[in-house]
Amino acid sequence: PNVDSVKVAVRVRPFSQREKDAGSRCVISMNSNSTSIYDPRNPGHMKTFTFDLAYWSHSGFLKDENGTFISAGSNSYAGQREVFRDLGQGVLESAWQGYNATLLAYGQTGSGKSYSMIGYGANRGLVPSVCEELFKAIQSQEKNKQYQVGLAQTVIYSQDLSRLKPGGLKIREDQHQGFYVDGLKLVPCDNYAQIERLMDQGNKMRTTATTTMNASSSRSHMVVTIQFKQIFLDEAITKQSVINLVDLAGSERQKSSGSEKDRLKEGTRVNLSLTTLGNVISALAEAATGKKVLHIPYRDSVLTKLLQSALGGNSKTIMIAAVSPADICYEETLSTLRYAERTKKIRNKAVVNASPAE
Ligand code: ADP
Ligand code: MG
Repeated sequence: PNVDSVKVAVRVRPFSQREKDAGSRCVISMNSNSTSIYDPRNPGHMKTFTFDLAYWSHSGFLKDENGTFISAGSNSYAGQREVFRDLGQGVLESAWQGYNATLLAYGQTGSGKSYSMIGYGANRGLVPSVCEELFKAIQSQEKNKQYQVGLAQTVIYSQDLSRLKPGGLKIREDQHQGFYVDGLKLVPCDNYAQIERLMDQGNKMRTTATTTMNASSSRSHMVVTIQFKQIFLDEAITKQSVINLVDLAGSERQKSSGSEKDRLKEGTRVNLSLTTLGNVISALAEAATGKKVLHIPYRDSVLTKLLQSALGGNSKTIMIAAVSPADICYEETLSTLRYAERTKKIRNKAVVNASPAE
């Protein structure tokens, strides 16, 4: 097996209107693959983290006539294309080789997870780009191979979803997590247009699931799973890859506007997924330092069950740590960077999934 650590990228977004209105100062700076954060209450005090990649998407951007962000000359703004070029291509390369691949976006609500993963309008994110490029590459392949692509989308939102009934949504119950929506079982796809339609449905499903519950979609995890199979007709073998693209729930401590009862129920459950993810990551990071770790609590949440192979298993895994540039987000940003630092220690053992064709 191919042992390598989780690849980690940090991305800092532009100021939001709210941050501008508050007269926020930028506490992040980046220098090649290092990210530094300054403590706003302790001038001169700075912490530096070095990851695989650091994306400065804070300033130096312009909008073209369609409102799409474009780079402004030498003033580098890392746009969706740059992020895709490194991370998205990495996922695709792994998939073509027959490795499982996982891309997780982590960060507080509003830090830019969905922007990087899904994108908004013309600023398409990693999920649509990976899917589109996968089909482009398939179309340009030789004829002695066959391909199968399947897509599944899962929204994990742990509150009681039994009031939900829009067509097509399957609600499942998990002993620990409560209820969650399992939208579409693996659907075979022949082209990108089909995937695009399914993804629209998936995003609606996420919004519906959460607005019905009168909650923000930032409380849910969205997992897009692509199964990619290559059948080599001449050699009678198949290679298979499972790609998981995950837009995680906001990492901040959950506050709720609901009733006390709802708040407790939701808080414990939503947090359970992220808390369990954190516990799994810590345990794996310890194990990677050579310590004997007896138990990795994968089975404690739906999310970690789903991501079991991505974390310390058979997968090439990438995490994007999305952060705000603003001083008012200092604590959350620092905690995101620390989480990313722990994640970086995880070692995965990816193997090519090949087998004689059936
Ligand atoms: P999250 O999913 O983490 O809650 P979003 O991705 O929705 O956060 O981002 C919050 C806001 O910031 C959105 O309006 C989004 O368009 C904007 N934004 C996030 N990242 C970027 C970026 N790299 N460049 C420009 N705008 C961004
Ligand atoms: Mg989001």
